[in-house]
Amino acid sequence: METGSLSAASLPAASRPLQPADADALARTWAEVTRALQTRIRAEPYQTWFKRSALRRVDDERVVFAVQNEFAKDWIRKNYTEPLADTMLEVFGSPRTVEIEVDAELIPSRDPQARPETAAPAAAPQRRNGVQVIQSADVAPGALHSELVLNPKYTFDNFVVGPCNRFAHAAAAGAAEAPGKTYNPFFLHGPVGLGKTHLLQSMCSSILSRNPQARILYLSCESFVNHFIDALEKSDLQRFRDKYRNVDVLVVDDIHLLANKERTQEEFFHTFNTLYQAGKQIVLSSDSPPKDIPTLQDRLVSRFKWGLVVEIEPPCYETRMAILKRKSRDKGREFPDDVARLLAERIESNIRELEGAVTRVLAHASLIGAPISVETAREALREVFVARRGEPTMEEIIASVSQRYAIRPSELQGRRRTNAIAHARQVAMFLARRLTNHSLEDIGGYFGGRDHSTVLHAIDKIDGLAKSDPQCGDTVAELLAQLRQRTT
Ligand code: ADP
Ligand code: MG
Repeated sequence: METGSLSAASLPAASRPLQPADADALARTWAEVTRALQTRIRAEPYQTWFKRSALRRVDDERVVFAVQNEFAKDWIRKNYTEPLADTMLEVFGSPRTVEIEVDAELIPSRDPQARPETAAPAAAPQRRNGVQVIQSADVAPGALHSELVLNPKYTFDNFVVGPCNRFAHAAAAGAAEAPGKTYNPFFLHGPVGLGKTHLLQSMCSSILSRNPQARILYLSCESFVNHFIDALEKSDLQRFRDKYRNVDVLVVDDIHLLANKERTQEEFFHTFNTLYQAGKQIVLSSDSPPKDIPTLQDRLVSRFKWGLVVEIEPPCYETRMAILKRKSRDKGREFPDDVARLLAERIESNIRELEGAVTRVLAHASLIGAPISVETAREALREVFVARRGEPTMEEIIASVSQRYAIRPSELQGRRRTNAIAHARQVAMFLARRLTNHSLEDIGGYFGGRDHSTVLHAIDKIDGLAKSDPQCGDTVAELLAQLRQRTT
């Protein structure tokens, strides 16, 4: 249907109400609204708070749009009511009441123009500078039963913020401001090495700096499982329960490790309920969203989604640059731009690897007494770079396929099975088999823990399709070429 070109003044929404079924018109109208909004809000906060948003309904009185979670909704209400009202007036020609809905399934619209930042956005939740990190031994008995002593470097201030993690950073800081009140449970998920543990520990420090009496229990999921097994063996469940159910804040890192542990899940369920009902804060991290944790009981999946579920994404190029600069500066010798660029281009997926590279380059330079240059960096990281020249990494394959099929890497690696996701996942497995030396089991491990027969089936299927369906064949050939080219 041709509607002719539309200017802001002759928007479809201005002339008739729009409902969720009018998907195209809603999208176009929202594009107009957000364009006008961006003249009133700076680019970084706009990216953080509105990149995951969509228009749901419009009529003469109301504009209803959705954002990804309660945190964003509250934040927008508190900070952007006025610019939103002005924007609606401009776009629709008369005032509209603005309503915000929450839709956890919203997919972010990525903006290639997004700029990084090394500090929190101006509008981020208020933080105290120099958060006091209290280690377990310093706290009055019983105040912090930490299985892992907090790392003093893991604070909000030391966390480099960019488009990929700004939301997670702001949400974690926000949740730590009012434990047990607003965002309970707080559930942070994303692949390994992206700063989940860093943010969890930052929350602990932040809560303690506000309330040194807070009883925080911070531990890895593994410790929880081991304690529970121990308590079962010693028939000492009462003490176990006393310990876990009498805290103000329970923080469990890597909760996905509850997968396949039925009895521990059962116990955790009761721990969760007791704490939740008493208004105590629960903070969890995981490598995948609640619904994708294999064998996790439905009642736990649904509870984990009650509060705030936040995804942390791999760092974009500019954020990697900022992290490299910051880490090298912290270690006493800031990398020149060309060295930082080399590393940011070569090491893409994981912040822990970036840190390791900084350490190696600095150690190598001081060992041979040379300045930090592109040449020294190449020498120091020769093995890392050589290993990469032969074959693409799984992260590269996952990134290419998810970009190509416009789905998120976490979906590709998760367990959901819509046709589109399942197809893209099979293509990724096929490419991994063709381009890397990973075993079938290994490949399955990258895609939600699938077994080797599933991987084999995927490979056969794509092999067949690539021959019988020209469109699929072209896509696979392009992806193969693109991935081979990157590594030469
Ligand atoms: P995860 O728990 O997600 O596997 P970690 O929190 O252990 O990741 O992070 C790995 C390393 O990278 C840590 O040393 C952490 O301090 C560092 N790191 C991660 N994200 C950032 C960031 N945004 N800024 C600074 N350092 C970071
Ligand atoms: Mg971790």
